[in-house]
Amino acid sequence: MNTTDLFKNKTVFSLEVFPPKREASLESIYKTFGTFKEINPDFISVTYGAGGSSNINSTANITNTLVHDYGYNAVAHLAAIGLKKSDVHAIVDHLLEIGVNNILALRGDARDDLPQGDFNHAVDLIEYLKANYGDKVNIIAACYPEGHNEAKSFNDDLRHLKEKVDAGASHLISQLFFNNESFYNFRERCDLIGINVPIEAGIMPVANTKQIERIVTLCGVELPKKFTKIMSRYEDNPEALRDAGIAYAVDQIVDLVTQGVSGIHLYTMNNPYIATKIYGAIKNIL
Ligand code: FAD
Repeated sequence: MNTTDLFKNKTVFSLEVFPPKREASLESIYKTFGTFKEINPDFISVTYGAGGSSNINSTANITNTLVHDYGYNAVAHLAAIGLKKSDVHAIVDHLLEIGVNNILALRGDARDDLPQGDFNHAVDLIEYLKANYGDKVNIIAACYPEGHNEAKSFNDDLRHLKEKVDAGASHLISQLFFNNESFYNFRERCDLIGINVPIEAGIMPVANTKQIERIVTLCGVELPKKFTKIMSRYEDNPEALRDAGIAYAVDQIVDLVTQGVSGIHLYTMNNPYIATKIYGAIKNIL
């Protein structure tokens, strides 16, 4: 099913997982998929490690398992950086063979060690997919409520986002954010420039302080005072920090749903405990 169809009647609730680094952890991720049955997510997306940090076979294998062994709708991420057109062809043909047509088309993070590929930006990948696969693939793209960290300006980033939608992205998933006001401002700006596709809000429940440091370094998202206070109060108490992280995410989601968000995309970090706790707290409001 195309993810776009999911938005017609409800607030979409989707999950994101990443392929485990070690083969040995595959069993544990499959157990996690079993636990997700309680949530019955509208779809589960599987990340792709650009440049082979986890290869597409892991992404494809996991989406295959999600669809065929567990009966979920799946989305495969595809980061084009360092890839040639022939690589993309091989990957997408394989995804279609296993029945996965929903693709989150990304550029991926720039890195010095990657070979020169055929795609400079996500929009190039989207145009390529549309030209070669037409409606056989449903394309999703990433968006950044506080602007992408390399963007020249917020407006420039929005302009490039519009290009991705005009090229064929039918739904957007946002980077995580901790201040809902940034998301509302972003949504309004999208509306003003004619971005009319569903925008899912990316929510990451914070489970430990290392994760926060990494997030800030990688994406430069704003950390509101209310959030940093919680983090500093519970930094030495992992269970309390986890519970406070869950409560903060639930609070964000309740507000977003009340304000008519199209969907919530939960970055689960492969943690079924946190995902089920959050779902339990919000399932009646979706
Ligand atoms: P782009 O849309 O290409 O944007 C990147 C930058 O270039 C932006 O600053 C934009 O303003 C600018 N830009 C865009 N088009 C043009 C143009 N034509 N000319 C000039 N400038 C332009 N990474 C992974 O490696 N694997 C994953 O699985 C993964 N999953 C993700 C899921 C989500 C929901 C999100 C939000 C991000 C994900 N990422 C993933 C990270 C993502 O790859 C990085 O944020 C990357 O830096 C940008 O990717 P993009 O697709 O948004 O790139």
